[in-house]
Amino acid sequence: MTQQHDQNHTLFERARRVIPGGVNSPVRAFKAVGGTPRFIKRAQGAYFWDANDQRYIDYIGSWGPMILGHGHPAVVEAVQKAVLDGFSFGAPTEREVELAEAILQQVPSMDMVRLVSSGTEAAMSAIRLARGATGRNKLIKFEGCYHGHADALLVKAGSGLATFGNPTSAGVPPEVVQHTLVLAYNHIAQLEEAFALHGKDIACLMIEPIAGNMNFVRASVPFMKRCRELCTEHGALLVFDEVMTGFRVALGGAQSVYARALPGFEPDMTVLGKVIGGGMPLAAFGAKRAVMEHLAPLGSVYQAGTLSGNPVATACGLATLQQISQPGFYDELARKTRQLVAGLQAAADAQGLPFCGDSEGGMFGFFLMPELPQNYPQVMTTNGARFNQLFHGLLDRGVYIAPALYEAGFVSAAHSDADIEQTIGAATEVFRLLGSA
Ligand SMILES: *Cc1c(COP(=O)(O)O)cnc(C)c1O
Repeated sequence: MTQQHDQNHTLFERARRVIPGGVNSPVRAFKAVGGTPRFIKRAQGAYFWDANDQRYIDYIGSWGPMILGHGHPAVVEAVQKAVLDGFSFGAPTEREVELAEAILQQVPSMDMVRLVSSGTEAAMSAIRLARGATGRNKLIKFEGCYHGHADALLVKAGSGLATFGNPTSAGVPPEVVQHTLVLAYNHIAQLEEAFALHGKDIACLMIEPIAGNMNFVRASVPFMKRCRELCTEHGALLVFDEVMTGFRVALGGAQSVYARALPGFEPDMTVLGKVIGGGMPLAAFGAKRAVMEHLAPLGSVYQAGTLSGNPVATACGLATLQQISQPGFYDELARKTRQLVAGLQAAADAQGLPFCGDSEGGMFGFFLMPELPQNYPQVMTTNGARFNQLFHGLLDRGVYIAPALYEAGFVSAAHSDADIEQTIGAATEVFRLLGSA
């Protein structure tokens, strides 16, 4: 297609004049993989269509929320009904209570939740609450984990464990990240050393239990066990950022996956987003009652939001939770996701290309390397040029995966076995080209 006929190109040109980089969230710009971002016109089930009416099998699902696929009839109906009752009131509604109850029913580590509008807001508020509840300032995060773009979390490791972080973004004063300690994921010795040095000052340890912002990397069970033990020992709160994994890897989130290996395991606080809004702006953070009662209006930790618990967003989230709570939902989702990863593995193996993959529930990752990485530096050793060829090869064949190698992928309930087979077929063709290159 000539550029002149490419509506994506035309829209991108227009967008770049009025929106920085033409996008409202950086990864959408295709900067890592090159080429023109697809402007999406509409979506249904497992597919979306771009501005040229080109169809793609969607493995992003809005970066996780669309676990039912796009336009699920029960969700659409609930949203349509809610819209007729009003968009926003700035006063409490029954639906917020219902959604809070529905969330708490599936995630027993929490007694109470506060609803907000984005994962960033939820993670930022969880940290303020952890600091307020413990009376401490310092926090631990891990390299490669993303918790939204609050100032204190845009940080990379300092030069040693005694020195705290450095900002990763301009506009973040060093003073704002001076209490954030950045550690290597899955590194037990470093974790122990950090607690030995700073234990009494640490308010919380925040972690993506299955990291989805460095592709797909699981915290090992021994590492997670040590995180739990050290937090308990030192009076720090263990905060699970399950914005991506919550209601995605299992109905009870990643914490239920770790509880299988570590009986009785629970985090102290949980941050949710993505799936709980079903594609609408909605997120939450929750904990046991004693911690949550530090929040305003009960306690002295301030937190608020004009659109928090929005009646349309809560209707969308509730309808989504109703669907995914049906018996067998996650078994079927996990089966299809495993089928996809196994098919890609076989296709790569047939060409002798290094490849490995992993999945949990409806979330997956794969790497163009022989063994699963355990931390961020290992993820970054993946062959970027080859990934970009794979990305564009799939895109040309109507398969849309994340336009960056450090992102996870998502399968929805709407993906059929035929969609998975078609995807594996497309990958087989691309791997054949890469193998002969
Ligand atoms: C997406 C994500 C966030 C940020 O959520 P937004 O709604 O984009 O602000 C935070 N933490 C994790 C683990 C995420 O995947």
